[in-house]
Formats: sequence, structure tokens, C-alpha cells
Amino acid sequence: MNDALSGQHELSMTVLMTPDMANFSGKVHGGAILKKLDEVAYACASRYSGSYVVTLSVDQVLFKQPIHVGELVTFLASINHVGSSSMEVGIKVIAESIQEKVIRHTNSCYLTMVAVDKEGRPARVPPLSLETSLQQLRSDKAALRKKLRKEAEEEARQTHENHYSVQSR
Ligand code: GDP
Repeated sequence: MNDALSGQHELSMTVLMTPDMANFSGKVHGGAILKKLDEVAYACASRYSGSYVVTLSVDQVLFKQPIHVGELVTFLASINHVGSSSMEVGIKVIAESIQEKVIRHTNSCYLTMVAVDKEGRPARVPPLSLETSLQQLRSDKAALRKKLRKEAEEEARQTHENHYSVQSR
């Protein structure tokens, strides 16, 4: 593997929004953006870890601002936090209307990716060095999101169990 590329924690990808990504009103499908977010997170986490990676979770994605066909969309991705085999990838999405030269931050989202080995078992990922205060802040916020996600999972599990124990009485 090329050492200059493995271990890099940032990646950016720019994509032109083409008509095949549009819904009937000429705006880009949310699903098309989700697919790109997943691809970008895959590439960022896989390059950082040097492993194949799978998607574990996608945090709430809000499509508050529509993206239009013909816009140039840039996905700015960065590894915010790593566990033993998991990585949180944060992605900031920026849309540029090419002729008007207007740039908008349309949304941001956070995906958790897990490195796996050839047998599909979780693989260890390199520790993330936090060199700037911004990296430290993002890492702290990612750790908090991880804790909240685990709590929500546990709550959902308990609700599910309670529901079925009531039904089987
Ligand atoms: P933040 O998480 O509070 O910093 O919220 P932002 O909306 O600014 O960014 C969302 C995520 O996108 C960040 O957590 C980073 O992972 C990533 N990101 C933001 N800005 C950049 C950037 O300039 N370059 C790269 N590579 N990633 C960025």
C-alpha cells in the first residue's frame, strides 16, 4: 500500500448533479445524495484504515435545502473519531451553482464505518492523532454521539423486549 495515502484522515469528492439523479421537480433525490454520502464515507474510512469497511450507521440526515440538477456538489469528509475497529466519518456537503457562483452548505452528516478483515471480522484501525483544537472538538462531539447512539440502541432493545414479553403473557 502507498503510505502517503493510508492514514490520511481527510478526503473530498466533487460530483456534478446530472438529470438521472433528479426527481420529477428537477431536484436531486435524497436517495442519490445518501448513496454518495455512503461512497464518500467508504472511501475516506477505507483509505484511512487500509482495510475494507462496512457501514454500521448513518446519523440523522436532514435534507433542509434542496440540491438542483446542474449544481456541483462537494463532499468534505474527515475521520472525526476512531474506536478499536470503528470510525466516525463526518461529511459536510456544499452545493455550488456553477454559473451564478453561489456556494451553499446544504447539510452535514456523520456515518460510522467498521473495518473488517478478509474473513469479515472487525479489524483494528490506527489511532487518530488529534493535532488541532478543531480535530479535538470534533472528536469529543463524535464520542458524545457514539454514547447517545448506544443509549438509544439499548432503549430500543428494552422496548422491543418489553413489548414481546407483554404480548406473550
Ligand atoms: P462540525 O462537525 O461541527 O464541524 O460540523 P460541520 O457541518 O462544519 O462539518 C461536518 C463534518 O464534515 C465535520 O465533523 C468534518 O468531519 C467534516 N468537515 C467539515 N469541514 C471540512 C473540511 O473543510 N474538510 C474536510 N475534509 N472535512 C470537513
